[in-house]
Parts: sequence; structure tokens; C-alpha cells
Amino acid sequence: MSGCGSGGGVPTVKFTKLFINGQFVDSVSGKRFETIDPRTGDVIARISEGTKDDIDIAVKAARQAFDLGPWPRLSGSERAKIMIKWADLIDQNVEELATLDAIDGGKLYHMCKTLEVPLAASYLRYYAGAADKIHGEVLKMSREFHAYTLLEPIGVVGHIIPWNFPTSMFFIKVSPSLATGCTMVLKPAEQTPLSALYCAHLAKLAGIPDGVLNIVPGFGPTAGAAISSHMDIDKVSFTGSTKTGREVMQAAAKSNLKQVSLELGGKSPLVIFDDADIDKAAELALLGIVFNKGEVCVASSRVFVQEGIYDEFEKKLVEKAKAWIIGDPFDPKVQQGPQVDKKQFEKILSYIEHGKREGATLLTGGKKIGNEGYYIEPTIFSNIKEDMLIAQEEIFGPVMALKKFKTVEEAIKSANNTKYGLAAGIMTKNLDIANTVSRSIRAGTIWINCYFNLDNDVPFGGYKMSGFGKDYGLDALHKYLQVKSVITPIYNSPWL
Ligand code: NAD
Repeated sequence: MSGCGSGGGVPTVKFTKLFINGQFVDSVSGKRFETIDPRTGDVIARISEGTKDDIDIAVKAARQAFDLGPWPRLSGSERAKIMIKWADLIDQNVEELATLDAIDGGKLYHMCKTLEVPLAASYLRYYAGAADKIHGEVLKMSREFHAYTLLEPIGVVGHIIPWNFPTSMFFIKVSPSLATGCTMVLKPAEQTPLSALYCAHLAKLAGIPDGVLNIVPGFGPTAGAAISSHMDIDKVSFTGSTKTGREVMQAAAKSNLKQVSLELGGKSPLVIFDDADIDKAAELALLGIVFNKGEVCVASSRVFVQEGIYDEFEKKLVEKAKAWIIGDPFDPKVQQGPQVDKKQFEKILSYIEHGKREGATLLTGGKKIGNEGYYIEPTIFSNIKEDMLIAQEEIFGPVMALKKFKTVEEAIKSANNTKYGLAAGIMTKNLDIANTVSRSIRAGTIWINCYFNLDNDVPFGGYKMSGFGKDYGLDALHKYLQVKSVITPIYNSPWL
């Protein structure tokens, strides 16, 4: 690939076809769709468009690889060896992958190169380390019977992923399912298919056997829906919006009752108490909403600040937002690139207009930047009412709803005033407050005096309408395993 890391010209993209049974192939329909550079709206590449027919072919390949192929039959350590080789290839190709995600998703090239792509390789290594430690239990039943459990791979997995972290999301899903011995069909988001196809090429080089990993780019209502309703997929692991998650679950229920795990949307609160370091709190609150241009499921889109420090906090927050640097994501000075596409860009701007009409105070931002590409200013609304649309709905952009509070009880009530429960942040030096609030907020991840920190070993997933089933950690392995109990009589046992 030429142009990688070259300062952001449109690269020549090598892999544009579906990856099925170890080969890059055209789609059955022969149709292609355009993937767009959000800096300009220009076409980067035309990608083969998978639909139901292609999903059927990919599922057959995955089924064959599961039923007859080597992957589920290798020992855990043999699978681990191949996964580690793949991780090494990811590291060696970090610039290519960072370029593809930056150009396809408007993401900061340097963030992808130094953080997201290396993290992706680390997920493979983490689950490679777990692959030979998957085992059941021996259970004592009675004098006459003995039982044990086997943890078996669930079978063929369908992964459906969004566009905001294309490479790392790919490996969050693929790594634990590979470690358990599953085979899979993955549909990347239609906005960001490039890095998934490049990773498929690296998988082949690493020695992942044909049919184990199949990548079918395409649209949600066609390729995505064909995965969730497929009769021969055993599990669907979905990350995306709550609305689509509901559709995925309905399709699974109406077809073969396949198992479902859902990582969905959020409207996460950051609660800042009077004793917090104001400067650090303002910095974290801003980062919480502008990191990855607010296209983050755990973005701190609702910020609640105690009245004693509110005025000073607000002043600092606005100063920092005004100094935030927006521009070409290949420029190392830039802190925020363009939104992923025109649809997302227009959606965010329409929420901003809604916020103004609802009567919230626009403290800063609120406008698009320039006439080319999909850039939006960091936007902060204060004087919000909690039932306003901008305080309730996931905007998935750099738009913050800011509110003052008086008491701990009021803060807890406000933080929980959402249908979502993905994450929350708390800033205080008071251990008692931190303990009470962290246990009172109904969300899957709580950060105390930090935000966004995740680790391979720490389970991540939602409460309430943010979904269920954990990614990360050893919990994620169990999404791709099922427990079989084996019972056998024992004759003449000398012990109970
Ligand atoms: P989306 O639900 O529109 O799309 C996500 C994926 O689902 C895409 O691949 C899409 O093609 C597919 N899809 C769409 N309709 C489908 C259907 N009917 N059947 C099957 N698949 C279908 O979400 P999005 O707008 O692409 O992504 C943003 C959303 O993802 C936000 O709500 C965000 O919070 C959520 N998200 C959650 C997490 C998490 O870990 N909880 C992480 C990242 C993003």
C-alpha cells in the first residue's frame, strides 16, 4: 500500500473484496459501495457489498471449519501460537492500519498508531495467554455418580461491529472467540471496512486456517440482519446502537434462538464534587466528550458539578474547549478530526439546534468548521433540564450537557436519570462519597478520579439499555463457551 503514514493523502487500498474461506472474493451480486474520507467527502475505495447470499456462503465456510477443520481441535497453546503471530504482524503493520482507520473514520493518526492499533494486538496476546487455561470442573455428585463439566466452544459466531474504533473493536470481538476455538463471520461497519480487510490479510499470513475468520462488509439491514437471523450461527456478538441491538435480539429470537450479547449506547455521567481539583476536573470533563470527536460509547456527555466550584469549573472548561485544536487527523498537533460521515455530522448538528430550541445555554461551540469535511466545534450546553433531548439521547459527538447540583443524593439521582448504564465518572477526594456514589450509579464501569481507563483484564459492558454480556477480561471468554455436564456412574468407590 502506498501513501501510508505519508501525511494523509488518499492511500491506494489493496483489499476491497469480501474475505471468505481464506480468499478475497467478489460479492455474489457484484455490487460495490463507496467508503468516504470524512476530511473531504471524497471516495477512498469501492468495497464489495456483501448481502444475505454472501453471509450464507461465509457461514457455510465457518461451519465447515468448525465441524471438520483443525481450529477447535488444536490445543489451546497451538491456537495461541498462531494468535501471537497475528499480533506480531499487527505491530509490524501499525502504520498501514493507523492510516486506514484515520482516513476511513476521521480518527487521529497518531492516536491510532500509538494507542489503538497496539491495543488491538494486545487483545490477541491477552486471549492467546488464556487459550490453554480454559477448563471445566470436577463435581462430586453422590457415592454412585461422578460428574464433570466441559467448556466447549459455542460454534459459529457472528460479530457485528460499529465504526468508532474499527481495529480495536475488531480484535475485542475476534480475540476471545478465537481463543475458545470458535469460527466466525464478522461484518465491519459500512463506514469503516478497510482495516478489517487488511487484518484478514494478516490473519492468513499468520496461519489462521481457512474458514475460521470470514469478513463480509455490507450494510446493516442486509448483511447485518442476515447474521442475526441466520439459522446456522450459534451466537451473535453485537456492538452498536440500542435501537439496532433490539433488532438483532428480535431477529435472534425469531430464528434459531441463538445466544446474543449486546454492547450498546450510553449517556454517561461525570459527577464532580466540590473537593475535586478544578483544573484536572475541567480537563477530564472536556476529554471525556471530545476524545475521538465524541464518537465514544462511554463519552461523558452529561457533566454534573457541585455548586461550590461550579462557576470556576465552567470558566476553565470553556477556556479549554476554545483552545482545543480541530483539523486534519494526520497533523500531530490536531486533537480532534472530522466526524465519521455526513449522516453523523448532520445528526450532531441537528441535536445542537434542538438544544438551542429547548432553551439550554450554549456556552461555546455549536457550529461546523469550514466548508469541506465533517468538522464540528466542541460544544457545551449549560442550564440544561434533565428531560431535554440533549440530556437524554446519545448524540455520539462532541456535545456536552452541563448541570449544577447541591447534594450527593441529587447527584446520584441525576446520574441515574437515563435509560442507559454503560459507564460513569466520579471526581472527589472523599472516599466515603466515592464509595457511596460508585455503588449507587447503575452502570457497568465506574471511573473514580480518572476516565476512559480500560484494561484487557477488566470486564466492560452495560447495565440497563446499554446491553449485557461483557467484553474484555476472562468474562469475555465465557460469551463464546458453553458448559456441558458429563455424568457417569462409579462402581465400588472407596470414598464418598
Ligand atoms: P448501529 O447500530 O447503526 O450500527 C452498528 C453495526 O450494526 C454496523 O455494523 C451496522 O451495519 C449494523 N447494523 C445496522 N442495522 C442492523 C440490523 N438491522 N441488523 C444487524 N446489524 C445492523 O450503530 P452505529 O451508529 O454504527 O454505532 C454507534 C453506536 O454504537 C452508538 O450507539 C454507540 O454507543 C454504540 N457503541 C457501543 C459500544 C459499547 O461497547 N457499548 C462501543 C462502540 C459503539
